[in-house]
Amino acid sequence: MKNRHRLPPAKLLALEAACRDQGLPLTVQRRVILEALAGRDDHPTADDILAQVRGRLPEISRTTVYRVLDTLVRLGLAVKISSPGAAVRFDCRTDRHHHLVCLQCEKVLDFEAPKLNRLPLPRSAAYAFVIQDYSIHFRGLCSECGSERPNGRNRKTHTPDARRAREENEE
Ligand SMILES: [Zn+2]
Ligand SMILES: [Zn+2]
Repeated sequence: MKNRHRLPPAKLLALEAACRDQGLPLTVQRRVILEALAGRDDHPTADDILAQVRGRLPEISRTTVYRVLDTLVRLGLAVKISSPGAAVRFDCRTDRHHHLVCLQCEKVLDFEAPKLNRLPLPRSAAYAFVIQDYSIHFRGLCSECGSERPNGRNRKTHTPDARRAREENEE
């Protein structure tokens, strides 16, 4: 096992406690996947995690990675982030924080805004819905995709699809 990817002790303890409470075994897969997620702050997709853990668990299947990530979310050790039209991403940070989502490259950055952490939860009884938490996604362009040129066009093109979408928008 590579030391530089050790699971932070607090997260490991939380995983042990959650597995014990739920009567789940602390499998190598659960530990390695949580470790992979805890080691990055770029909000990876399940496939990103799969690519990362294949180095350590060559036999692991895509289904297992998806299932383990769902288990980690159910245990409260990670959260899912979804933006319309983009792949679901996972976040090991479960404290209240917000996100900056790039509309072009779909990058997701953590955004700290203490003022936004203290919003009063609105009444939702009329919707037969109990609000428990919130997280705000601000959509825009990251520094790599930002409109450096006044007309908003950008030399940097990440994918042919992005370029095509932009050209269609300009018509
Ligand atoms: Zn971007
Ligand atoms: Zn986050």
